[in-house]
Amino acid sequence: MPIDATQPYDNQNIFAKILRGEIPSKAVYEDDYAYAFHDINPQAPTHILVIPRGAYVSWDDFSARASDAEIAGFIRAVGHIARENGLVAPGYRLLANAGINAHQEVPHLHVHIFAGRPLGPMLA
Ligand code: IMP
Repeated sequence: MPIDATQPYDNQNIFAKILRGEIPSKAVYEDDYAYAFHDINPQAPTHILVIPRGAYVSWDDFSARASDAEIAGFIRAVGHIARENGLVAPGYRLLANAGINAHQEVPHLHVHIFAGRPLGPMLA
């Protein structure tokens, strides 16, 4: 079910539980600002989710409320993960679904990194 991205943050959402280590995940990278793990239902040979450590529902919530340090740290982490996993030369795609029309399902901001095959033209 897609979520309303204007809802208050729910600290029982599945990615909050992953961040707290209450449910398992396959870690790719972590630092003070970001945690990255493999998507449980990969849509490409490489499908990584990157989430901020802070409690933000969506990209909109994050860009409005997060500190400059959190925003910079998170964006740098996404770039670092792409470089460290050899994704830059073959190419990769970033996607952040926000709200109902985008079919965001988990109410904790996440950026998808897709790579490992030609991804085709971007879908609207
Ligand atoms: P959204 O549609 O952008 O919200 O994407 C949510 C993503 O989270 C989907 O690609 C799911 O496969 C993924 N996902 C849901 N639960 C888990 C989990 O427990 N571990 C890893 N990925 C998950």
